[in-house]
Amino acid sequence: MKLGIVGLPNVGKSTLFNSLTHAGADAANYPFCTIDPNVGMVYVPDERLKKLAAIYNSEKITPAVIEFVDIAGLVKGASRGEGLGNKFLAHIREVDAIVHVVRCFEDSNVVHVNAQIDPVSDIETINLELIFSDLEIIERRIAKTAKSIKTDKKLQFELDTLNFIKNELENGICARAIIFDDEQITFVKSLNLLTYKPVLYAANVSEEGFLSGSDNPYYDKVVELAAAEGSEVFTVCAKMEEEIAELDEDEKNMFLSDLGITESGLSKIITAGYSLLGLISFLTAGPTESRAWTITKGLKAPQAAGKIHTDFERGFIRAEIVNYDDLIRLGTYNTAKEAGLVRLEGKDYVVKDGDVILFRFNV
Ligand code: GDP
Repeated sequence: MKLGIVGLPNVGKSTLFNSLTHAGADAANYPFCTIDPNVGMVYVPDERLKKLAAIYNSEKITPAVIEFVDIAGLVKGASRGEGLGNKFLAHIREVDAIVHVVRCFEDSNVVHVNAQIDPVSDIETINLELIFSDLEIIERRIAKTAKSIKTDKKLQFELDTLNFIKNELENGICARAIIFDDEQITFVKSLNLLTYKPVLYAANVSEEGFLSGSDNPYYDKVVELAAAEGSEVFTVCAKMEEEIAELDEDEKNMFLSDLGITESGLSKIITAGYSLLGLISFLTAGPTESRAWTITKGLKAPQAAGKIHTDFERGFIRAEIVNYDDLIRLGTYNTAKEAGLVRLEGKDYVVKDGDVILFRFNV
């Protein structure tokens, strides 16, 4: 999972990004990761791995990871190429979901680009740049489709859909807020529009407001806007996250419980991101490592195996699966097997969250 952090300058993006990636997952474990200061790998907290590792005597634990990209520099005019705008837009095109940081804190020491705090206008400024960029894509596609349509009547459906989207975008509506039918959804997904990506609005509130849970009219405005387009909102206090990031695990838990908070901003983003993107984790375990793997809900066993290695998918024979809770309840893999709780599943099996899987495959 790859999340891009966007927002106007000075809203707290880098503060949040730095605190999220402070602990930093060890990049060496994740060969797909490019070393880039604006990219941070973050572990997905998963309590199950510790217990699994104890059962299997695993040498190490490897949690799933989320890649965060700090996409700074998105300013008014970005879609016209101002301030390296297009480069940033290209970065956004590669992410699975967007974390849109919105300033909801007051601090006279931190300058706001528009001289006043107005989350709705801030969000609209960013969204408008994304809309402009999508419009460019749609218009190019319309021109291309209109040319070939004479020879291919099926393209009429695409052209109609493109024109429909164009009209909505021109009215300032993000593609994710448009209601499409199933056939349109498949087509729209293939367009990879920026405004079709799921968004989590991170309302960056002040420390006082965050702790007292007191009313924050800026936050309320964000909630209203998000509801209208079917997006999620959560509160963070980037400044506090920055302080928490400096602490070790024990200190962190103590700090959070002193404040009466159960969840850090990081785990809130991860939980929300998982649910937003329809993700689940399956587990693998053995003496070498206990590990969690992130997949999309609905994925079948061979494709899940492919997340580990393409050979696993190509040579897939079957999966031996025990549910995590059953395994913990019975204590060992063998007792679970004796109890008939280790299942042999074939290529049509849909993997579930918490499946502990051993893949059998031909090389
Ligand atoms: P970016 O331009 O969006 O990446 O913003 P930065 O993370 O660089 O933050 C801009 C300024 O706002 C810095 O001086 C931060 O210390 C400050 N800042 C960030 N988050 C908060 C917050 O939650 N409360 C307050 N008071 N200041 C913050």
